[in-house]
Amino acid sequence: MDWIRLTKSGKDLTGLKGRLIEVTEEELAKHNKTDDCWICIRGLVYNVTPYMEYHPGGEGELMKAAGADGTDLFDQVHRWVNYESMLKECLVGRMALKPIALPKESTSALSEEKKCLNGMLPESKIVGTSKSFAPSYDWFQTDCSVTVVVYTKQKGMNSEMVILDYEDSRLRGEIIIRDYSYLLNIELSNAVQEDIAVHVAEKVGKVEIVLKKKDNIPWKKLGQPLESHNSFIKRTDQGLYYRKCKLISKTEVTHDTRLFCLLLPQSTHFQVPVGQHVYLKQIVTGKEVVKPYTPVSCSLQTHFKEPSCHDGACLFLMIKIYPSGLFSSELDRLQIGDYIYVSNPEGSFQKCQVQTLEDLFLLAAGTGFTPMIKLLNYVLTNVNSLWTVKLMFFNKTEDDILWRDQLEQLILQDKRFEAQFILSEPSKEWNGKRGKISSSLLSEFFKRSKQDSKVLICICGPAPFTEQGERFLKDLGYCKEEIHSFTA
Ligand code: FAD
Ligand code: NAD
Repeated sequence: MDWIRLTKSGKDLTGLKGRLIEVTEEELAKHNKTDDCWICIRGLVYNVTPYMEYHPGGEGELMKAAGADGTDLFDQVHRWVNYESMLKECLVGRMALKPIALPKESTSALSEEKKCLNGMLPESKIVGTSKSFAPSYDWFQTDCSVTVVVYTKQKGMNSEMVILDYEDSRLRGEIIIRDYSYLLNIELSNAVQEDIAVHVAEKVGKVEIVLKKKDNIPWKKLGQPLESHNSFIKRTDQGLYYRKCKLISKTEVTHDTRLFCLLLPQSTHFQVPVGQHVYLKQIVTGKEVVKPYTPVSCSLQTHFKEPSCHDGACLFLMIKIYPSGLFSSELDRLQIGDYIYVSNPEGSFQKCQVQTLEDLFLLAAGTGFTPMIKLLNYVLTNVNSLWTVKLMFFNKTEDDILWRDQLEQLILQDKRFEAQFILSEPSKEWNGKRGKISSSLLSEFFKRSKQDSKVLICICGPAPFTEQGERFLKDLGYCKEEIHSFTA
């Protein structure tokens, strides 16, 4: 908040009196001291000297990129942070472009790309992978529909890998193939209806996007390509895309935690895979603020079917409200019918990590329980090899235990599932376990069902909790591959 105030004070934070300049590498390198520090992020150069004392990670972290390109470092630590908005007043200018001689084919490919889109298109712009793996697309039409077909050239595609949005005549389809992302980004030439169907032919890796024409007239072309259209690049290089979702319900989970239900736009197709999170974005006192949250199922009952909220899909988020929390307290002020921006899902957890498991141990603290919810639902209904699922759930008090009733019901319902609640600030009446995470608590409860069982231990909670958990588990003999920590 102090930083926001400073940026709004009208002070000259760049020292350039509002001028924007072209910065050469040599010039950038000169500004590498704490009292004169410039950093380049995605081609833009910022004077971060005034930001030093506000940076949550401290001066030392910022100085790692002093006088240099900090893009990779920034992406590794907090790529969701909206630095463009936060550092707007610190913008010095752009990096000066180095002249590059384009080979002949690429110059012609660029002009090809500028043409209208009709029929088979040029091969994707491929970065960092072999051309033969890159998806391609085509389209065809009937009197009343237009179908865009993406040939992913990958087996085992599923609908979780396709994220589709249609807004203001722009069609944006992102197809996730492992660490890569293929993007369709087109300004459609004619209007279509909001209800767009997506079909995935899993075995042949074909994705069909079926658009219903608003006027049943023949289309001469599909549309105009927009930024990064038909590109196949590293997923982390594809910027986060946000769509506006409507808050349709808000229910109490505990005294300070609520279950928010957001309705996705009708034309949006996305599902959040197990173990992944999204970013929520809102404007707080005039600045964009972004925080990660892990969507949950609406219930722990494995046979419970998600209600289909109206015509669209819903996203459930279990969020703790901190009275002094910048983002969560603002979220709590949202009224039913208000809108909030939701990003594409992200996260490193892979379902294949649990597909042949025999033991799954879950270590959760406070809202660190959220990634365990979908995971529990998924393994208990899909993983046949599973013998045991054990949850150690650390909280301050009994009142803080999220979905305690549902967890206790699940223990009765599924013999494979056990849970232990451990309280760090219990009342005198509490008969259960007390304390914080420790080696002895872990070794007492987490026992393999057989000596060499295939086990995965998932950890989520406050950062010190996760770090201690990892350390204790390693000391207890679990190897790196057997531990997954949920972090951003
Ligand atoms: P902040 O303004 O950041 O502060 C939060 C509270 O902590 C305040 O009371 C503040 O005083 C205190 N605080 C802040 N910094 C410190 C500090 N360094 N030391 C001690 N106290 C401090 N949260 C959920 O509720 N549900 C989720 O599903 C969820 N999923 C997440 C997924 C990921 C991948 C990650 C990384 C985090 C997730 N979180 C989740 C946490 C969430 O992103 C926010 O951090 C949380 O909502 C607090 O944000 P805030 O802006 O309200 O609070
Ligand atoms: P909390 O403050 O209510 O604490 C819950 C329990 O965590 C405590 O009872 C204690 O046992 C343990 N704990 C807290 N601080 C500890 C410390 N310093 N050392 C050891 N143990 C400690 O927790 P909360 O307010 O619900 O916070 C939950 C945390 O989980 C947040 O930091 C949030 O960012 C994180 N989270 C992360 C993800 C993710 O996917 N990475 C998802 C959800 C929540």
